[in-house]
Amino acid sequence: MSSEKDHLRKSGKGTRAVHSGNSPSENSLNTPVYQSSTFFLDDNAYQMWQAGTPRAPVYSRYNNPSMRAAEKKVAHLENAEDALVFSSGMAAICTTLLTFLSQGDRLVTTRNLYGGTILSLDQDFTRFGIDVHYVDVKDLDAVEEALKEKETKVLYCETVTNPLLEVSDLPALAKLAKKYGALPIVDSTFATPMACQPLDHGFELVLHSVTKLLNGHSDILGGTVAGSQDLIHQIWYKLRNFGGSMDPHQASLLERGMKTLHVRYEKAMTTAHKLASWLESHDKVKKVIYPGLESHADYDLCKKILDSPSTMVCFEVEGGDEAGRKLMDNLKTATQAVSLGGVESLISMPCSTTHVSWKKEDRLAAGIGLGFVRFSTGLEDTDDLIADFDQALKKI
Ligand SMILES: *Cc1c(COP(=O)(O)O)cnc(C)c1O
Repeated sequence: MSSEKDHLRKSGKGTRAVHSGNSPSENSLNTPVYQSSTFFLDDNAYQMWQAGTPRAPVYSRYNNPSMRAAEKKVAHLENAEDALVFSSGMAAICTTLLTFLSQGDRLVTTRNLYGGTILSLDQDFTRFGIDVHYVDVKDLDAVEEALKEKETKVLYCETVTNPLLEVSDLPALAKLAKKYGALPIVDSTFATPMACQPLDHGFELVLHSVTKLLNGHSDILGGTVAGSQDLIHQIWYKLRNFGGSMDPHQASLLERGMKTLHVRYEKAMTTAHKLASWLESHDKVKKVIYPGLESHADYDLCKKILDSPSTMVCFEVEGGDEAGRKLMDNLKTATQAVSLGGVESLISMPCSTTHVSWKKEDRLAAGIGLGFVRFSTGLEDTDDLIADFDQALKKI
């Protein structure tokens, strides 16, 4: 890390979001887009390359100053020594996990994960002979049992899950992982470093799909992992080999997007909280799922682990899936689309998107009731969003 920027590590998250990583050149205020696949091989570059040093500045799959700027910003925000950026969240997740898992190794995780991660674990990791062992990470005794039963390389979970917004007990899970010699890794996409810094709770690596809140403008895909320099260097070799690297333009957009993460997060979260309370008192709403409400099973855990609840609000409407669709069709402000964490509000139903391949009974058993709607709060005015839900709910 460049020492001249180390004072930033003691600053607030907003100051870090704006300034960390920024690498001006030629008196520019901002980091230029280093739109270059390759770099001049000076003596230093030759030496680093020949020695196999991570991030030799020779080729953009190895290192690029635009990517470096984004990586340093992520590292500072996560209180991590170092970070890497990837072409997508899935590239970050797969590259990271495959750095530490080989044939025969055990991964202990939960079925309550991002759908794409489950697909890859079930379709690819098992194909490579990796022992993917699912437990309920909310059940700490079951986690301990699984870790005790067989040597485990990695314990993997998410800080806040989709779509039930369950909160994982990160300090307890990290403690168990350490006791049994497993590496604890968490996908913290839904929480962001604004709500939680998992490394401070004992996790060794934190992942994000920056496609979502970190970039925040629904205009790029991307992923990142942050942790100790030693672990990040080990992952760098696999990033180099597998090739899921971010490109300079994508990195520049990401660095710019992250500069407003703190204000975007705060605004969206405040609106989400108000909307969740408003929905809870509406007679056409059966149930609201929001960890900042006392009605959520993880209300206390949320207070303990997260600095603020969530920018996502889920709820079930009266009248089932048909009524849910009607509600979405009648909303004027929110767009029907998957993904989340952008400046614009997005709405979708798990039954016709992320959980479309699930049988109805399985969805119900997993807690995704009829008429379940998932809302990603954008930066529109709170009153406009509530008024829009009010008129749309009247029509179902
Ligand atoms: C979207 C998402 C991913 C995958 O990220 P991509 O950028 O789409 O590859 C992984 N984890 C979580 C929690 C996500 O929401």
